Amino acid sequence: MAIASINPVTGEVLKTFIPLTDDELEQKLALADHTFATYKHTSFADRAQWINQAANILEAKKTEFAIIMTLEMGKTLQSAITEVEKCANLCRFYAEQAPIYLADTPAITDASRTLIRYQPLGSILAVMPWNFPFWQVFRFAIPCLMAGNVGLLKHASNVPQCALAIADIFHKARVPEGAFQTLLIGAERVAGLIADQRIKAATLTGSEPAGQSLAAIAGHHLKKVVLELGGSDPFIVLKSADLERAVSTAVTARIMNNGQTCIAAKRFILEEAIADQFVEQFVHKFKALKVGDPMQSDTDVGPLATPQILQDLESQVKASVDAGAKVLVGGYRLKQSGNFYAPTILADIPFGAPPYQEEFFGPVASVFRVKNINEAIALANSTQFGLGASIWTEEPEEIELAIEQIDAGSVFVNGMVKSDPRIPFGGIKRSGFGRELGMEGIREFVNIKTIWIR
Ligand code: NAP
Repeated sequence: MAIASINPVTGEVLKTFIPLTDDELEQKLALADHTFATYKHTSFADRAQWINQAANILEAKKTEFAIIMTLEMGKTLQSAITEVEKCANLCRFYAEQAPIYLADTPAITDASRTLIRYQPLGSILAVMPWNFPFWQVFRFAIPCLMAGNVGLLKHASNVPQCALAIADIFHKARVPEGAFQTLLIGAERVAGLIADQRIKAATLTGSEPAGQSLAAIAGHHLKKVVLELGGSDPFIVLKSADLERAVSTAVTARIMNNGQTCIAAKRFILEEAIADQFVEQFVHKFKALKVGDPMQSDTDVGPLATPQILQDLESQVKASVDAGAKVLVGGYRLKQSGNFYAPTILADIPFGAPPYQEEFFGPVASVFRVKNINEAIALANSTQFGLGASIWTEEPEEIELAIEQIDAGSVFVNGMVKSDPRIPFGGIKRSGFGRELGMEGIREFVNIKTIWIR
């Protein structure tokens, strides 16, 4: 894929970029390696100062950065501003918390002193997606830098200006040169990087095929990877739920980021007793959504990021309808330029149709009806994914059952699934493995060194 910014509203090519030459790439790898030799000895206090400075820059220029995101991938400007603010909060949180997460941990053994120390590994490669072009990168970069590693970013080819802006933030924050670099390269050059002995580990957020490919190569070279892949999160609503809140949250959980979120609620699993009421309100709210220019403050849903995503979504809806699913609202692409798809709700979905197994990466909700919580959990668990899950009920036994039995990396009760700097994030099954964020996340890319002193 060419490295280019293309406005998803107009199709206009805003800017194209020439990928790094092999020599340029080599220089960046060498610089990262060289920088690590000294960066790993910097103090938490120094790192915190740089990262807090990055937060200051994010806050000061949030609208400027948000406009770049909106122009490159179409998220609403307001949500892009919120994303920049969230990155700044993450910086401040890890500046303070990393020394606690990475402090020596004592253990009791037969030795006079036993402890666990967390030491950085070196250059970590991050292969990142376009859907949260700032957040996904900061979620990797800040824990990585606070732990004393150096980071190399291969961002998605459709958000190069975001990638460059992020590198510039770290540069302006006076993070040592080479501690964080952007590599403008295509996906086909990731394999060579993984093979390079200077790259110690890698993380990828993106699709299953990309994850499979990276993990296979990393396995061959015996390097650690963290994978954050796709999801088809269930949103279960049972009869005791606060229906009004559940419906409002369901709409947000499905359409945020124009429906292109890994942890978006995608399958709405409703207990029979409240299903009609839920669906009526859900359809009503979907009909009221304003689709259009993401720069406008009253727009709810902007365009999909690329023509390919629009085409994929259209094919999935068509396949579902061909299989017998009913369209309650939407079900078509807008007849105008840009990658716009109408907010859509599918119901009466025959078993085996695409919503049962596939991820719909756009504003399409699939509604299912079940008799009780046991059926709801069985349906929730019936996909190959296991990223997040949301359940709505006031019954303590149902809450406990859901927490215990849903196969996912997170369960949110009476709230939507979200990623939060303070808690681990990640999935199971084909949604990936490893964690980002929280103590578990920051410890993914360190040498957990056991020290035993007689
Ligand atoms: P994608 O095609 O897999 O791209 C993601 C990144 O991987 C891009 O930088 C891409 O580079 C690179 N890439 C693609 N194929 C590769 C390969 N064979 N080897 C190495 N790198 C490769 O994903 P997408 O379609 O843009 O993103 C949507 C997917 O990401 C969805 O499935 C979504 O659920 C998932 N996602 C997951 C999370 C999470 O935290 N679990 C968060 C956000 C998104 P190019 O752009 O150069 O092709």
